[in-house]
Amino acid sequence: MQKDQLFTRRRMLLAGAAALGAAGTAGLIMAGSEETPAPPPVLAGPQARPVLKPSEFRLQPLTGNGPPRAKPHKLTVRHQPFVRISTRGRQMMLTFDDGPHPDYTPHILDTLAKYDVRAMFFVCGEMVVDNKELLARMADDGHVVGNHTWTHPLLTELGRGDIRSEMERTSDIIEDAYGDRPQWFRAPYGAWNRAAFQLGAQMGMEPMAWTTDTTDWKEPGTRTIVDRVEDNAGPGVVILSHDAGGDRSQSVRAIHEYLPYLLDSGYHLTVPSRRT
Ligand code: ZN
Repeated sequence: MQKDQLFTRRRMLLAGAAALGAAGTAGLIMAGSEETPAPPPVLAGPQARPVLKPSEFRLQPLTGNGPPRAKPHKLTVRHQPFVRISTRGRQMMLTFDDGPHPDYTPHILDTLAKYDVRAMFFVCGEMVVDNKELLARMADDGHVVGNHTWTHPLLTELGRGDIRSEMERTSDIIEDAYGDRPQWFRAPYGAWNRAAFQLGAQMGMEPMAWTTDTTDWKEPGTRTIVDRVEDNAGPGVVILSHDAGGDRSQSVRAIHEYLPYLLDSGYHLTVPSRRT
């Protein structure tokens, strides 16, 4: 697919940045920020308290001339994405980016269902257009869908209006296909900037990065992906994998191996609870 090739080419160009992100997403963020660095926030899991305390919300004026819709949550504008979840209860989280894709996503959903595990899917709007039924299935199966922009651009090269469009269109189609507007977003390539954080908060979304990149986007072999997950497993760890953007058959095979391993090791695979 031409689009897959485009993704791959972009990823090759950005391999250096991605490696940095894998080593420490917070470091990558702070490099492009004028804000005072702070420790990466830790997300509370569903068994813990709600993601945000009421005091952490702040009101902002509503803007926009679109059709009336549910008032989005107004969140604190963060300067770094979440990179971990709570370590309570040996929790871990699996996340899958760039889909949905009809060749790969259903197999991943099947495996998750087989083990009764929930995961997060950061989808691209343009991938949802012809695969809405996969988002409906994610809703039925209890998975959480996040916003990964419409076309997977490098947000740091876009103006504010384009970033807003990328994010807003994607939230719109997620709402249409999944049933709810997303409460989480993830910048493509882990390349965040202040506008993305601000716009995400205005749209009621928290920024979510990852702890461990499986590097499945390099198609390194199923064994390598499995090893990356199993070697980096630990309480609070967020795993990044992909269900589109290239040949993801290795990612599909890998989850068959690492998911039962994680469960046998006593990890509780979880997703964020919904804010209401
Ligand atoms: Zn991506």
